Amino acid sequence: MTAVREHLGDDVPLIVDANQQWDRPATQRMGRALEQFGLIWIEEPLDAYDAQGHAALAASLDTPIATGEMLASVAEHQELLRHNAVDLIQPDAPRIGGITQFLKLAAFAEHQHLQLAPHFAMEIHLHLAAAYPHEPWVEHFDWLETLFNERLRISDGRMHLSSRPGLGIALSEQARAWTQAVREVGTRP
Ligand SMILES: [Mg+2]
Repeated sequence: MTAVREHLGDDVPLIVDANQQWDRPATQRMGRALEQFGLIWIEEPLDAYDAQGHAALAASLDTPIATGEMLASVAEHQELLRHNAVDLIQPDAPRIGGITQFLKLAAFAEHQHLQLAPHFAMEIHLHLAAAYPHEPWVEHFDWLETLFNERLRISDGRMHLSSRPGLGIALSEQARAWTQAVREVGTRP
């Protein structure tokens, strides 16, 4: 982290993502060691379902704690909220049941003054994040680009909302072809 910070300078936001690989003692040690770097957040330090472990960490560190990408419902996220386990939630709209469930969770999170950084599928999450009252982060993944005709406009680290209807994206011909192929396999006797 020292080398990365020196290389990038102080103006570049830095985040550490542990992908649930630490246990509670390791997380406390790492969290203390990382405080000096002024991270934007520490992501998934613990098992995604360890609400109490996240809560203890969040209470003991100044660095914001984030998790939630692996959770599969609003109810599972509410367990984090009930324990004051996070400073920032990372819901994944497709994983928690779609746009309606995401908006429900966003209302709960805003009520607790949490930050928001949705996980993956930026084509869906850009619009949802833009509707959040506190300025959100949106993860950049270009993995789904072949699914859609449009590309998000990104400049200077910021994503721009389109004025097209809905999410502003349409399935590409390539994606339609994949859908067709699946349907044909499924209808064989
Ligand atoms: Mg992540």
